[in-house]
Amino acid sequence: MQKIAQVIVDVPAMQVDRPFDYLIPEAWRDIVCPGMRVSVPFGNRALQGFVVGTSDSSEFSKLKEIREMMDLAPVINEELLSLGDWIAEETLAYRITAYQAMLPAALRAKYEKYFVLLDTANDEAERLFEGYETMDWKKAEQLGALPTLQKWLKNGTVDLVYQVKTKVTKKTMRAVRSLCSVQQLEDAIAGLSKSAKAQIKILQFFQVFDGDYITVKELRERVQTTDATIQKVASLGLIEIFDQHVSRDPYENHDFEASKPLPLLPDQQAARDAIVNSAQTGNQETFLLYGVTGSGKTEIYLQSIEAVLAEGKEAIVLVPEIALTPQMVERFKSRFGKQVAVLHSALSAGEKYDEWRKIEQGKAKVVVGARSAVFAPFMNLGIIIIDEEHETSYKQEDNPRYHARDVAIERAKRHGCPVVLGSATPSLESFARAGKKRYTLLELPTRVNDSALPEVTVVDMSEELRNENRTEFSAVLLEKIKERLAKKEQVVLLLNRRGYSSFVMCRDCGYVVECPNCSISLTYHQAHNQMKCHYCGYQEAVPHHCPSCESEQIRYFGTGTQKVQESLAKLIPEARVIRMDVDTTSKKGSHEKLLNQFRDKEADVLLGTQMIAKGLDFPDITLVGVLNADTMLHLPDFRASEKTFQLLTQVSGRAGRHLLTGEVIVQSYNPEHYSIQYAKMHDYLGFYHHEMRVRKMGSYPPFYYLTLINVSDENEMKAVRTIQEITQFLQGKLGPDAIILGPVPSSIARIKNKYRYQCIIKYKVEPQLNAELKNILQHYQKEQVKGLTITMDVQPFVMM
Ligand code: ADP
Ligand code: ZN
Ligand code: ZN
Repeated sequence: MQKIAQVIVDVPAMQVDRPFDYLIPEAWRDIVCPGMRVSVPFGNRALQGFVVGTSDSSEFSKLKEIREMMDLAPVINEELLSLGDWIAEETLAYRITAYQAMLPAALRAKYEKYFVLLDTANDEAERLFEGYETMDWKKAEQLGALPTLQKWLKNGTVDLVYQVKTKVTKKTMRAVRSLCSVQQLEDAIAGLSKSAKAQIKILQFFQVFDGDYITVKELRERVQTTDATIQKVASLGLIEIFDQHVSRDPYENHDFEASKPLPLLPDQQAARDAIVNSAQTGNQETFLLYGVTGSGKTEIYLQSIEAVLAEGKEAIVLVPEIALTPQMVERFKSRFGKQVAVLHSALSAGEKYDEWRKIEQGKAKVVVGARSAVFAPFMNLGIIIIDEEHETSYKQEDNPRYHARDVAIERAKRHGCPVVLGSATPSLESFARAGKKRYTLLELPTRVNDSALPEVTVVDMSEELRNENRTEFSAVLLEKIKERLAKKEQVVLLLNRRGYSSFVMCRDCGYVVECPNCSISLTYHQAHNQMKCHYCGYQEAVPHHCPSCESEQIRYFGTGTQKVQESLAKLIPEARVIRMDVDTTSKKGSHEKLLNQFRDKEADVLLGTQMIAKGLDFPDITLVGVLNADTMLHLPDFRASEKTFQLLTQVSGRAGRHLLTGEVIVQSYNPEHYSIQYAKMHDYLGFYHHEMRVRKMGSYPPFYYLTLINVSDENEMKAVRTIQEITQFLQGKLGPDAIILGPVPSSIARIKNKYRYQCIIKYKVEPQLNAELKNILQHYQKEQVKGLTITMDVQPFVMM
């Protein structure tokens, strides 16, 4: 009987975004299963594809055959395949793009495959491998051995290794193994002269050692010996030194001190119990763990995971990329040891692949990682935790444009397990859902050590200007920094880079030029000295006088960390400053190095961008200064106030977490702005209610959903025409509640010589919207081949 595979081929295009039937060659009939990659003929090319199903018949005749198998075990399990289909559907991405996003980059590159014999006691396998440790895939295929090898792969007799051709190679380490039995070692010891103490120690070690091998380095440490002695014993033929493949554990050079669960405080206990009980019901439930900074959320994550592991299940912990610091990783590694895999972008492709393999092979039970770790190939998920759930980096700004929170909940439904969203400043969307009981709210209102939240002082920078202070530092901030230096305490200074230099503001009164239609600030476009609204297209020239106070000090804004460092050096020459920004942390490990220096008190001041707002927990930080609280406030983004409030709250949380009391100075040209005032009062709820009113008035999330459509083309007229057609088409299709903003030029009006235009759809319920949007993509398919680009971002976070 014939057997057919349904294959999604690697062509990201609408008309091929569906399975094609291929005949499975006789020899592979029992091997091919969903989630494996194959090479198939497509048109006159050979393409890679994913098998998504198999069947005994096809409605098509004259099927082409699969050319080549690329895997022997699925690289995407069935649950992830269906999750991929869901993502493709929800985010309007192609299925192939969704599948690719789930795999480590190394599996997308060119590689060679070979089998490694693991169980040398298996005679049949020994024979097949002809005494070699490895066998090339091609050879195995020629021998017709793939079906057998697939079986052995499942029962652990062999392993299949993908060796990437580019740079990413397996790492080896010098290792030692014993070649003798315990008795033979005993005899050898007896035969050695009593003075050969050092050699005897090594032999004695191997008498009691029960592992397969030990690295030379570890052996040296364990028996306090030298390479020369190990060599000498090896020359006797008793032990052997060889190169052992090791997976590159990026944290292997760290010694993590084991940590024990702490007795929980009552609020923590209640939260942990609710999560663990839910995990045991097998129903999917989403928790919003709302706890101030330092309230012990991480300890709850740890103990919930512990309970889940005890049931034989696995855990995913998502952390924003910039918060994925060694400090954070250490907390998980020190509790769960080698069961923890870490996935983040600073790892090389090879390292990521190794971590992914640990998960896939069941060696790791907990993964801590950035956004894409939500796809960790676990089979038996028991919990998904998303720390700092409000962070926008959980949204992927590239196809597939998924949000890790939505994917996590969808995945958790398939496993019947809880999702825990943790934050001191939950996103408005999540808090609103908790209000509607779609999420279960868990609260931790106080810090663990009862230390008070730091006192926040807001300094009006226009006042400073009136007093002739034109530096980045207010008098009071300078004063306080000097105080800390005298007391040998530490200072963190945040320079808010987001929204940098793109808005126009009056230096005297803080007035920011806003769009008359949209209540968001206008963006400064240097080329034409114009200000534009990103949402509706309104524009005007930069005024010469402030419309509010007539001052001439109105101009666009911005300053960099380097400049701040220089002026600080002039103002307080004795301050030792560590600067942390994209420039100083681009090298791998430099982030960690700088933090360690700061922790070891090699500096008094840590000056940096957003990346210092998270996760820092040093006892001697007693002063936090925010140099420019406003910049973000004027981004052309309806989330501007929310982001400002979150950032100020986060960074304040860095001060006085331990015995010393902390203090925060916030410098602002808009000291009365509600996001700054509520942050000053540590009043999340106050902020939430205020901001909800603003969102309701503006018809923004969480009251409305958004979809952003962007069209770009080298020919500006074509881009304009297309976006107009799309807008018109949609106007006829949407319900009366829906609002379409635009079309307007995108705020980045041209990228790579392509003109960009956009429109934003605001809607409440539009069940047909996705289908209509797909129709649009389909309609412009031919144009897209010629270079027209249409992107559709469902629930966008970046509006440019
Ligand atoms: P969050 O994640 O909410 O910012 P953390 O989990 O980092 O808070 O906790 C803050 C500090 O309190 C950490 O140093 C942590 O070890 C400590 N801590 C947490 N829970 C307890 C507890 N039950 N008893 C004692 N110390 C705790
Ligand atoms: Zn003014
Ligand atoms: Zn506008």
